[in-house]
Amino acid sequence: MLADPRVEAATRRLGRTRTKAVVVDVLDACRRGEVAPEGVVEATLAALPAGSASLRPVVNATGVVVHTNLGRAPLSAAAIDALTTAAGPTDVELDLVTGRRGARGAAALAALAAAVPGAEGVHVVNNGAAALALVTCALAQRPDGPGREVVVARGEMVEIGDGFRIPDLLESVGGRLREVGTTNRVRLSDYESALGEDTAFVLKVHPSNFRVEGFTSSVSVEELAGLDASLVVDIGSGLLAPHPRLPDEPDAASCLAAGADLVTASGDKLLGGPQCGLLLGRGELVQRLRRHPFARALRVDKLTLAALEATLTGPTPPVPRALARRPADLMARARRLALAIGPDAEPVVSEGAVGGGGAPGVVLPSAAVALPSVLAEPLRIGATPVVGRVHEGRLLLDLLAVPEDLDDLLAEAVRRVLAATAPDGRTG
Ligand SMILES: *Cc1c(COP(=O)(O)O)cnc(C)c1O
Repeated sequence: MLADPRVEAATRRLGRTRTKAVVVDVLDACRRGEVAPEGVVEATLAALPAGSASLRPVVNATGVVVHTNLGRAPLSAAAIDALTTAAGPTDVELDLVTGRRGARGAAALAALAAAVPGAEGVHVVNNGAAALALVTCALAQRPDGPGREVVVARGEMVEIGDGFRIPDLLESVGGRLREVGTTNRVRLSDYESALGEDTAFVLKVHPSNFRVEGFTSSVSVEELAGLDASLVVDIGSGLLAPHPRLPDEPDAASCLAAGADLVTASGDKLLGGPQCGLLLGRGELVQRLRRHPFARALRVDKLTLAALEATLTGPTPPVPRALARRPADLMARARRLALAIGPDAEPVVSEGAVGGGGAPGVVLPSAAVALPSVLAEPLRIGATPVVGRVHEGRLLLDLLAVPEDLDDLLAEAVRRVLAATAPDGRTG
């Protein structure tokens, strides 16, 4: 079986171990009489995975631009190209002109520094949580005895997701939490009276996945910057500059201009890049973080550096492009798609969201193709997995996060599923 030219081609693509496992399964099925002997090669080819990784590309028709379960930000074509190039031997830490060791990831860091001119120093780690961990390690941890205090508002003790909590993270690397204020309100005087000998830094965390409404107050970066302590601001979403559609979302440039000593953020949320954690701020502070022993454990690989640089310097990545889509254009696409799909589809107005820990509560006006909700599952498990959102008994394929050039593929995927599924759920 493995010598059959078609199976051999699959072996070259997928490796002998994976291919052989499928062959063994098909031969077992043949012995049980479930596959005809003359059909074993075809059955093997059909059972082989299409790609060499089991992760599959998915069409994000949820209307959620940064969907955590779909891998957050999709990379730009330029970033994908850059990481493919960087996959082989590359000059990530070698100066080709002198032949000597070079600064690792210098081009990516320069691109980040150029994107936020107000940052004296920049550093990149594995993710947003790693950025916070490194800051806490370097500024709050004591090798012997309890750590120094991280002063943080009670209303900013955020659970990021999947059960992970920022306060637990800070404590796990030696920070001691000093909570100030109440759930809904905190004043500058609360911070003032908490500061002392043992203060490591004041931390302001953006409540990026929830909103507290009503009798609330918080203290601005500008006011906190006037305190006699280092100020670290975790903005979360990675906006480098203000975004007109997200007026309440904090950004790195504004926080630094308002006096933050350090800003931490994720690279794969609103920035639209690869998973990484950004650290921007005072030169001396960033240098201290970079040289801390723990920094090595949080180091990003060459693929991340390549993709980050291309995200920052290349054409607009998918996430900011999605944020720029206009409702009228989205509705025009929904109408065209509904026509291409047939009478089961209807273009409708829809409401998208940023998602992924950014701009909570902000509605992004969008448009969708509404379909019978029984199609949700077959579309998810089809040849081109399409993930929509079920709303008021119908499946909505929201176009906000779908690149225009996928419309034909989307229509085709729906037509294929409709052809195989009667509207009442029977498969035909
Ligand atoms: C998302 C987020 C984090 C965690 O970042 P990761 O990149 O997921 O590690 C931390 N803080 C805030 C405010 C966030 O929104």
